[in-house]
Formats: sequence, structure tokens, C-alpha cells
Amino acid sequence: MSTAVQDADRWRRRARALRWSGGLLIDGRVVPATSDGAAARVSMVSPRDGSTLAEFAGASVDDVDVAVASAREAFEDGRWSRQSPTERGEVLIRWAELISESAEELAVRVALEMGKPADDALAVELRATSATLRWYGQLSDKLAGSIPVAEGPALGLITHEPVGVVGAVVPWNFPLTMASWKLGPALVTGNSVVLKPAEATSISALRLGELGLEAGLPAGVLNVVPGRGPIAGAALGRHPDVDVLAFTGSVGVGRAFLGYSAASNGKRVWPELGGKSASVVLADADVSRAASTTAWGCFYNQGQMCSASSRLVVQRAVADEAIAAAVEQARRMTPGDPLAVGTGLGAAVSATHQASVLARIEAAVAEGASILVGGSGPADVIPGGSYLAPTVLVDVRPDHAIARQEVFGPVLSVLVVDDVDEAVRVANGTEFGLAAAVWTRDLATAHLVARRLRAGTVWVNSFEEGTIAMPFGGVKASGYGRDKGLAAVEKYTDVKSTWLDLVAS
Ligand code: NAP
Ligand code: MG
Repeated sequence: MSTAVQDADRWRRRARALRWSGGLLIDGRVVPATSDGAAARVSMVSPRDGSTLAEFAGASVDDVDVAVASAREAFEDGRWSRQSPTERGEVLIRWAELISESAEELAVRVALEMGKPADDALAVELRATSATLRWYGQLSDKLAGSIPVAEGPALGLITHEPVGVVGAVVPWNFPLTMASWKLGPALVTGNSVVLKPAEATSISALRLGELGLEAGLPAGVLNVVPGRGPIAGAALGRHPDVDVLAFTGSVGVGRAFLGYSAASNGKRVWPELGGKSASVVLADADVSRAASTTAWGCFYNQGQMCSASSRLVVQRAVADEAIAAAVEQARRMTPGDPLAVGTGLGAAVSATHQASVLARIEAAVAEGASILVGGSGPADVIPGGSYLAPTVLVDVRPDHAIARQEVFGPVLSVLVVDDVDEAVRVANGTEFGLAAAVWTRDLATAHLVARRLRAGTVWVNSFEEGTIAMPFGGVKASGYGRDKGLAAVEKYTDVKSTWLDLVAS
């Protein structure tokens, strides 16, 4: 066998060598769930080919209770919360290194679990996860409070104290990266965490937790409780001893967490929710680059991206050129086997999700949209898998459901506008406000439009770019609070004012 052939098969070989098992990581050990009730069972099916990966008992309400108690005890006895910031930072950096060392194995897990290409998981997902934990690790001993000017013999200290026990509930689309966006800032500030991953990506999350322990996180500081959302997720949301609940996911579930909080202890909930990002292409832009990047930003990760540029808002004068470039990009991104080397697009997370994306395309056509490429059927890659071809829709109006609702699939809607004001109006015309882009060669227009776009992130002449230092989150129905950067640290700390009277007694 030639080296090239061996190399082409490397992901499949790794997949064959993997052993799968469920379980919960509680108090420093992997343990089975206590209750084996049918409602709590997790069944993991690979969207690559429809095969069953694992079936196991998910965390019960009692298991979540034990995990929270373990996190609380760890927090109170100071094994992590009162460790020196330098030591805490070193553990996170070591964890980042272990993730890099295990990156190929983790990439295969993610590819099998949720269908993204292993190549892509390795290059983006694992790199970002490791980089995030390293960034917060390096930040650890640089965080500081402040001392305001005081009058008279007194001293005021403003410090940032860990909140205590953080619950983190995350989705499957970037399962490890989304987890790291919560874990980095929550752990570096001394909190204990209970992580509830999405069912679909339970096993990669468990491995992430094991590597954390190996890196030196003391028992109880990080607990991972794979399980069903309405059981394990809700139990964390309702728990009276969880201080902060960090959530990434859909609008509906995010709002359910606000309800859980209201009905329990009023814990702070940080919701990072969905999006319907517009990419505004003005007539003076590099139109073909703008449109192909927009289409890429819509199709990437099988379109399962909260910030996906799912609306191409283009000025009429250049609409034909933009549409042609978007269609060409769609044709370039044909789905393939997630375990084949060189695959750019993989499978949608599940057959149910695939069906929901196809139903939205059908509904769009019924509303009057026309399919230029892709369309109404599943893409044929591996029997039993849930593949979707990238789709470009034209004749879409701003009031169509396809232009307002999140599809979370590779479906680009083209909306043609006459001028800048209409472009801004259309771009802002959904309930969401996660991200947006503007493409123009005019500096003043770029600034003015960027300011008028109601979104947590605006890209100018780019899409999906930035570094871990740039805060990420939404406005309007897309939520509030920011992941990444220094901004995320605020979510997991309380400001404390300490006033010292310095009059000698
Ligand atoms: P989801 O259905 O809202 O699920 C997210 C998490 O919540 C999962 O762990 C899920 O567990 C859990 N959950 C589900 N129902 C629950 C309930 N009733 N009570 C408590 N927890 C519950 O979202 P998803 O389908 O995994 O992910 C897609 C959504 O995430 C999209 O809307 C996307 O825009 C959003 N997203 C946002 C960002 C951002 O940064 N703003 C980033 C990525 C994704 P199960 O897996 O067991 O259902
Ligand atoms: Mg869901």
C-alpha cells in the first residue's frame, strides 16, 4: 500500500480503533448514571451513515444534584478557587497541550458524532478549543482589580470574585469550542463547573473533561453530565445551588433557562442564542469575493453555525454577479464522507435535522422562492447518512419565513435591495442580532453601515474572522453577554467593594 493511500484512509483507521462508552464525570471519576429510566437514555447515532455509536443512561436529576454538590464542595474548600492564579493558569495551559496532543482522536470523535469533516474538526474545532484554554490560562495571573482614589485615610478595593458554581449547557455544532468558551473564563477565575453537553456530542465532551483531570484540574472542579436536555439540562437550570448558568443554543431553550432561573434561585443566565446574519454587498464592493465568502460563511459546517451568513443582501446593480459567485461556491462545496481526507462539507447532525432543513426549503419555494442550486432532496453520499447539498434561493422577500427564521442548514437566501438605506433596513429586519457583514470599498460607508447594523459582531469586507480576544455574542433575540476575550470573564465574576478605614486605632 502506498503512503498516499494509507494517508487517505487515516481517519477511517482511527475511527475503527476508537472505543465508545458513555458515563458521567463526577467528582474526578467516570461513573455510570444512577437512574436507568427509559426517558433518560441517550442514543447516539452517527449522521455519517446512520449507525448507532453508543447508547447509555444519561444523567438523572439526582446525578446532577451530586455533580453540583461536588462542584460546591470543591469551590468552598478552595482546592481550586484559592489556588494561586499562576498555578490555575498552568493547568489550563497543560490542558490545551493535551488537547493538541489528542487532537486527531478528538477530531474523529466529533466527525462521527455530528458529521463535520474530521479534517475540518482538526483544523478549526480542535485548534480553537486548545487556543481558547491556552488564552485564558495565560490570562490567569494578569487579571487585576482596581483602587479608586479615596478621600482621607481610607482605601477602597474593587475586586472580581468568582461566582461559585457555574452550570454550562452547550450545543453540538462546535461542541468542544463552545464548551471551551465557557470553561476557560469560568475556570480561570476560580469557579467550579458542571457541563451538560448536547446529547449528540456527549462522548467528545466526556473525553475533554478527562483530559482536564489529566492536566491537573482537582476532582469536582469540572463535572461533565451528558444527558437529555429536558432532564439533565433542566436540572442544572433549576438547581438552587448553581450561581450562574451559561447557555449556548436555540432561542426557545435559552428562554426556558430564564424561566428555570425565575422558578428557582434567580441565578444569572447568560444566553448565547441563534442568528440570521445578513451579509450586505454594496455595488462598489469586490462583488465576487464578497458573494463567494458570504456563501462559504453560510454553508460552512453544513450551515450549522449560529453566525452563518444565511442572507445575502445585495444591491440590484451587482446582484447577477453576486448570485453567480454564490452559486459557484455552492457547487464547489459538495458534501462528502466526514472521514475522507479532503472533504470540505460533511453531514447534517441528524436525519431529523436534515428533514427540518428540507422542509424549510420546500416552504420557501411555496412562498415564492426559486432554487438555483442544491434544493429539495438529500445529497447522496453514504447510505443512511444525512447529507444536504448547499442551496441558493432567489426571489426571496424580507417577509418570507426563509428570510426571517434560522434554518441552521446550508441554505442561502438572496435579497435584492436598491440602496444603502434599504440594505440596512432589510439586514436589521429580523428578530436576531448575532452577526452581520458589510462589503464596500468606501471607508466612510463601511463605518456608517457597520454602526447601523444591529449585531454583536460586524465584519467589514470579511466573514467569520477574528481572534479569541474579540468578544462574541448577540443583541435582540440572539441573547446577551459575551463569550471570548476579557468580556467573558465578567460573566463568571462578581464585583466586590472592600472599604478599609486606615485611621490608626
Ligand atoms: P438547543 O436545542 O437549544 O440545545 C442546546 C443545549 O440545550 C443542548 O445541550 C440541549 O440538550 C439542551 N436542551 C435542550 N432542551 C432543553 C431543555 N428543555 N431544558 C434544558 N436544556 C435543554 O440547540 P442545538 O440544537 O443544540 O444548537 C443549535 C442552536 O444553537 C441554534 O439555534 C444556534 O444558533 C445556537 N448556537 C448559538 C451560538 C452562539 O454563540 N450564539 C453558537 C452555537 C449555536 P440535548 O442535546 O439533550 O437536546
Ligand atoms: Mg436541539
